[in-house]
Amino acid sequence: MLKKVEGIVIRTVDYGETNKIITLYTRETGKVGVMARGAKKPKSRLSAVSQLFVYGHYLYQHTSGLGDLNQGEAIDSFRSIRNDLFLTSYAAYAVELVDKLTEDKKPNPYLFETLYQVMHALDEEKDPEVVLFIFELKMLSVAGINPQLRCCVNCGLDTGKFEFSIREGGFLCHRCLSIDPYHIPLKKRTAELLHLFAHMDLARLGNISLKSETKKEIRDVLNQYFDAYSGLYLKSKRFLEQLDRFKLD
Ligand SMILES: [Zn+2]
Repeated sequence: MLKKVEGIVIRTVDYGETNKIITLYTRETGKVGVMARGAKKPKSRLSAVSQLFVYGHYLYQHTSGLGDLNQGEAIDSFRSIRNDLFLTSYAAYAVELVDKLTEDKKPNPYLFETLYQVMHALDEEKDPEVVLFIFELKMLSVAGINPQLRCCVNCGLDTGKFEFSIREGGFLCHRCLSIDPYHIPLKKRTAELLHLFAHMDLARLGNISLKSETKKEIRDVLNQYFDAYSGLYLKSKRFLEQLDRFKLD
């Protein structure tokens, strides 16, 4: 049975001399692996559409295992991302996160749309750090491990000064701080932004400019939270951290 999908290439692996196995994240079927025969040959009609990050329409032979890619038509190959090492690294992290946090053939059109918006926002050169903050918060929600960022996890009040507790899984208000001596102090603005980013539609992200210390606070919270709850170790994330250090020097 032939199946037509709209998808983004989130992983590619060479297979033999001439073939590639590509993983697509699709609107219709979620994550699906297909064999792109001959895609490593430059003249192959599958070569361009089998590159990492390409967004397009794909037609493949559906089987119980790996499908067979028949044809593809690129809609966008996100040129700005491709031409920039930093943007490529951010995008590589985004697609690896989707790959690691999803199972095969479980449709989630919302996640597809979110991934598309991430790629689009990076390609439009929106602040990549902010794009990833929003995306990571959405992925925590997809994985069912989202932190409480609306009110205090302990008393439920939504007023007061909030800090972050990794152990308790979200905001702790000033009244409840003593239950977690290891809470992470947050500036008021940082707490507001975490709440805002968790609910923000990426398509509506304008040109927001954050102080580097605010970014650092958000990054620390997200890193520690991911380390504690996601069970993931992503190569692309480590690479991104190395690049960040390089950028600061
Ligand atoms: Zn409280």
